Amino acid sequence: MSALLVVLEHDRGKWSEANDEALTAARQLVADMADGAELHAVLIGDGALDLAGQAGAGGAAVVHVANDAMLTDFGPEACGETVVQLAVAESVAAVMAVGTSRGNEVLAQVAARMDLPFVANCMTIAPGAGSWSMTRVQWGGSLLEDATLDSGDGPKLVTYGHHAVVAAPAAAPGAGEVREFAPTLDASLARTIVKDRDVQTAGVTLSTAPVVVSGGRGVGSAEGFAQLEELASLLGGRVGCSRAVTNLGWRNHTDQVGQTGTRIAPEIYIATGISGAIQHWVGAMASKRILAINTDAEANMVAKADYAVIADLHKVVPAITAEIKRRKGL
Ligand SMILES: Cc1cc2nc3c(=O)[nH]c(=O)nc-3n(C[C@H](O)[C@H](O)[C@H](O)COP(=O)(O)OP(=O)(O)OC[C@H]3O[C@@H](n4cnc5c(N)ncnc54)[C@H](O)[C@@H]3O)c2cc1C
Repeated sequence: MSALLVVLEHDRGKWSEANDEALTAARQLVADMADGAELHAVLIGDGALDLAGQAGAGGAAVVHVANDAMLTDFGPEACGETVVQLAVAESVAAVMAVGTSRGNEVLAQVAARMDLPFVANCMTIAPGAGSWSMTRVQWGGSLLEDATLDSGDGPKLVTYGHHAVVAAPAAAPGAGEVREFAPTLDASLARTIVKDRDVQTAGVTLSTAPVVVSGGRGVGSAEGFAQLEELASLLGGRVGCSRAVTNLGWRNHTDQVGQTGTRIAPEIYIATGISGAIQHWVGAMASKRILAINTDAEANMVAKADYAVIADLHKVVPAITAEIKRRKGL
């Protein structure tokens, strides 16, 4: 029986939310593959074994756990080579991941090492008997492209766009058979390895926050973000920003929403003083609802928003905060 291998992510045993999307998409792909493919998952590195049960619960029939001293921390070359060796050993029909920066980097490594084509950031994938058809996001989200993938005798290599699939629990768990895999890795694969990490500050992350309150150049200063912090905190959300803001040094790049920042998918996105350039929009377009606050009624963000207030954000944001506090009795 052929297999679809889904590459799952974690950081030293901390499950990535993108895995729920990956398993949801993988279950559908396996169902659509004509020859009754089996869903295999791979978890790589320290702490992977602890997550095997979660991968099984998500529908994986087989969970490969790859370990090696070089895989303790994430390194794209070592992870990519590990996936290649596993894909060859298992003769998989396809390798899939979610197109987070890590997912796309590992699949790009796999493609280069196997000398195979790779289609990244798909919205939909239709497996065929020979070639596969897909619609993928191009040019930072401004274009949807219909593509055909033909990999000859090699496995199909694909990623779904991050947040392109709505994660759902499996109707029934997979068998979750755990298989340990020991790749052969040499020192040349240790060129890039994650060594240090910033500890996540308490609360939700930007990419998973239910509410994101973002500020752009219109906020006017680093200090101006205090109003946005207060509103975000009242709503249980996070503060984001545009690249103009990170370029000006008002916020860290970790807060940036967009093509070269984080892609978000909150229930509500409150975009204040942001014009809505395409590079910002691609990071925000998965938001369920958008409220734009802008002095310019013609701004792109206003045109794309579900709700808009055409006024000075320095008046509107404190007014919203005051009303929420009043209703909460604070
Ligand atoms: C390769 C590349 C990648 C990029 N990646 C990203 C990315 O990841 N994320 C990103 O954001 N950008 C990105 N950019 C930059 C992008 O093109 C825009 O320049 C940027 O998003 C503009 O930021 P902004 O909306 O804050 O500023 P501006 O475009 O200057 O807009 C400021 C807005 O604030 C409004 N305003 C001003 N004062 C007030 C006020 N008092 N109250 C309310 N509204 C007010 C104005 O009407 C205006 O609409 C990228 C660009 C390139 C070339």
